[in-house]
Amino acid sequence: MPMIINGIGVSRGITQGWVHVLKRGETHISKRTLEPDQIGSEVERLNEALEESRKQLREVRDMVPEKMRQEVTGFLDAHLLMLDDAMLVDMPAETIRAQSCNAEWALEDTLEQLVAVFDSMEDAYLRTRKNDVQHVIRKVQENLSETEEGEAEVQERDLTGRIVVADDLTPADTVLIQHQNVAAFVTQFGSSMSHTAILARSLQIPAVVGLHDAGMLLEDGELVLIDGHGGTILCADDANWLVDQYREYQRAEQEREEKLMALRDKPTITRDKQSVTLKCNIDLIEEIPHVHEVQAEGVGLYRTEFFYLDRPEGASTDEQYEVYRDLVVALDGKPLTIRTLDLGADKEFDPDYEGAIAPNPALGLRAIRRSLQNKPVFMAQLRAILRASAHGPVHVMLPMLTNSSELSQSLALIRDCMEELGSEGAAYDPEIKIGGMIEVPAAAISASVFAHHLDFLSIGTNDLIQYTLAIDRVDDQVHYLFDPLHPAVLFLIHHTIQAGRQAGTPVSMCGEMASNPRLTRLLIGLGLREFSTHPGSLLEIKQIINHVSSEILQKQCQEILACPQPEKIHGMVEALAKA
Ligand code: PEP
Ligand code: MG
Repeated sequence: MPMIINGIGVSRGITQGWVHVLKRGETHISKRTLEPDQIGSEVERLNEALEESRKQLREVRDMVPEKMRQEVTGFLDAHLLMLDDAMLVDMPAETIRAQSCNAEWALEDTLEQLVAVFDSMEDAYLRTRKNDVQHVIRKVQENLSETEEGEAEVQERDLTGRIVVADDLTPADTVLIQHQNVAAFVTQFGSSMSHTAILARSLQIPAVVGLHDAGMLLEDGELVLIDGHGGTILCADDANWLVDQYREYQRAEQEREEKLMALRDKPTITRDKQSVTLKCNIDLIEEIPHVHEVQAEGVGLYRTEFFYLDRPEGASTDEQYEVYRDLVVALDGKPLTIRTLDLGADKEFDPDYEGAIAPNPALGLRAIRRSLQNKPVFMAQLRAILRASAHGPVHVMLPMLTNSSELSQSLALIRDCMEELGSEGAAYDPEIKIGGMIEVPAAAISASVFAHHLDFLSIGTNDLIQYTLAIDRVDDQVHYLFDPLHPAVLFLIHHTIQAGRQAGTPVSMCGEMASNPRLTRLLIGLGLREFSTHPGSLLEIKQIINHVSSEILQKQCQEILACPQPEKIHGMVEALAKA
């Protein structure tokens, strides 16, 4: 009897393989009381285990393939930094001295205290940092008790073609796994924003996370089929049946891809001759080949918060400039839209930042608000972006604008940076295009103000929905209310597109709605003519656009806009998608 299990697909790819359940050394930590003359050598034992852990992490770091080094090693460096942090070096040593206890127990005590601090923060991103601390402390404990089974298994056994199943994977595990040619991995914990998921995408390993009880549902040695996009895992007693299913999946996927690939060099144009621009959203430079592969017209959203992922101080102007310049060069004449820092709320990477414990971080000091309060950091980024603009077309995009004062302050800072660069004799594009994201209802309602002062607008539907419907986008409990088709959301999208049209300012959309092929007809009917999507969705969206008439869709969308009932709207949009 075949069994289908669903988790969260975080890294695309369909593959089959034999399950390998990764068993870690059980960490039963008990407390031992030491004699006074044993204390010194116990502290010494702790320091040796810390040093051994640093050495192992450095070895793993050296295994990362050169072309992925920049992003991937960041995670490992963060763990190395933690191993040098006073919190992990001094706290347990003090506990050994104060409680006359063994090093394993002192680390457990430290972990307990730190976890309590993270838990009290109740911030989705910080919860992933709590996992980092757990990973690092467990590693030192493993070295103390010399039971590194989890990692030893990865290092010593041949895992080629295996589907690794684990409760959780550290960044170091993920790199080791990739080194062992593992076919895919499945974890019990994690989300699409977790480090493991981000690394899996960078390293191109199909992955499903958040599969509760994964270790119980999947057995060591059984053959399974995994779809890292849909998050599905297929298991069956009959291996032949599974192999047939795999072939069927592969055949369908290949057929679909071939059909879509044939569209690559075709223009994107509706049946009634409305041209549409399709660009990509990217987070990493490794994604540029995909941008070229689907022949996107450029990058419509490059998020820059990744500079802060593992270091609160972020990157210097020079380091940012080099990354932007490499992207511009790699894009070979296609425009790169660089969004300025959108730190805060769901993108809070600095555990010490006081905004993280703000009463309501999503409504707090985030994105452009935070940049305007920290001008040196903002200007360092603007200078890097401007310098990169000397190498090819670059657009600057300001996140989460709410009022015209934020806009005029930002424009003044860009002008100041231009003047500074000019007086230093540094090259930049004085005609650089400056745009803003419409992500707040107030900005959508007053979109004409922004449209008159900017070169382009881009609708960030992820936040626009969050703020319009008053639901925290990372809070599972209210996820059922996250409705992209709520009449108020559709009204604001339509209003923004109209405002842009009246001002002669192009309006794009870079939120997740733009990447959803089921909504493409609706968005064309609402007047959208520029989409910035995941590279994997772009050709499917092009295929739809090339088959529709914008005039007919526009009429159908008038009815949708006039409908006050969300359930009815869902039915109407469903019917549009099937048409
Ligand atoms: C959005 O809010 O729709 C958006 C694209 O920005 P982010 O998801 O990075 O907040
Ligand atoms: Mg946003």
